[in-house]
Amino acid sequence: MASLLIRDPAQIVSPPPGVLRGPGLATPVIRTGESILVEDGVIAAIAPLADLAAAADRIGAEIIDASGRAVIPGLIDCHSHLVFAGSRIDDFARRCAGAGYEEIAAAGGGIGLTVAATRRAGRVELKAIARSHLHRALRLGTTTLEVKSGYGLDLATEMKILEVIAELNDEQPVDLVPTFLGAHAVPAGVAQADYLRQVKAMLPEIAGLARFCDIFCEAGYFTAADALDLLESARAHGLLPRLHADQFHRIGCIEVAIALGAASVDHLEVLSAAEIARLAATDIACVMLPGVSLFLDLPFAPGRAIIDGGCIPAVASDFNPGSNPCLSLPLAMALGCLRSGLQVGEALAAATANAAHALRLDRRGCIAPGWQADLLLLDCADYREMLYWYGTNQARTVIKNGRIV
Ligand SMILES: [Zn+2]
Repeated sequence: MASLLIRDPAQIVSPPPGVLRGPGLATPVIRTGESILVEDGVIAAIAPLADLAAAADRIGAEIIDASGRAVIPGLIDCHSHLVFAGSRIDDFARRCAGAGYEEIAAAGGGIGLTVAATRRAGRVELKAIARSHLHRALRLGTTTLEVKSGYGLDLATEMKILEVIAELNDEQPVDLVPTFLGAHAVPAGVAQADYLRQVKAMLPEIAGLARFCDIFCEAGYFTAADALDLLESARAHGLLPRLHADQFHRIGCIEVAIALGAASVDHLEVLSAAEIARLAATDIACVMLPGVSLFLDLPFAPGRAIIDGGCIPAVASDFNPGSNPCLSLPLAMALGCLRSGLQVGEALAAATANAAHALRLDRRGCIAPGWQADLLLLDCADYREMLYWYGTNQARTVIKNGRIV
């Protein structure tokens, strides 16, 4: 079962195993003249074809001719808001016609529209919408995806979203990592402090459905003190902390993330040099979301400084209906190169090995014996072309747990 021989690729490209920071990030391991043997969903060996042929024959491995193609690890998207209902296309059209945030909200758009539609949607409908997005993500090379709740803002809908994530995880190939983001925004008609209490009260029922707890820590939403309060409670319920931090304002979230030993801090568009120095002394992943900066015409995260400062960089899509409706991780990686100063090899590590670290997942995001066989065969012979030909899908064959999907 799930045994493959990936025969004679033009190159096999992978970050070295482990969490990556600093100068080594830019230089992935590139093998030529070798093939990959996968057995029972796991990478068994990487060697010249002649050395693998007998073993491949013995286990009855399916053979894939990969000549002319680069092979890279399956992409890991460590930040998305995949599950929602309702269309924000009118918001987009109004914005393109010059409308501002307040005008769009006054016309019935914005996150309020998404929350209302997600609350109304039945589970079957919500799952069908999310499934179609997931299918597109898989075709673009995403083999593992973090998915946040956060468009319910009440217990019943937050649970509905997390249950949809759990069901989808069992029904299709992409591995989903669920995050509870009840503290995404404050629902209309509720005082901020009251809502934070409500979110904390959701934790006992939510805990079994999520791996992480996240909070939108930003001026006008939730404070650093709120983040500390909520995430400490969440951790007591077994949920690992991560934060939306430093998107528009520095309000002390990085200090909280360090105090909590968070898995990641995400956004970081206004991250300061002093914060970079503090994060460099931790194993917190610094997740950049360049698609949001493109879509909203905002500054990009200081990727070059994050890497040169010794932090652990990751790049994710932040797929969501309001600030980035794009699931393409290769496009986010290309933007990381073009606008945040990443080198191509750094972008690859940021969406594979380091993204696995951001999700605290073992043995994926790298092509090495003993690691999970999540692999992409690209249309191109040089992996760098995946980002150079940005805007086109270079993922030819997606392999998940050793199966072509
Ligand atoms: Zn987000």
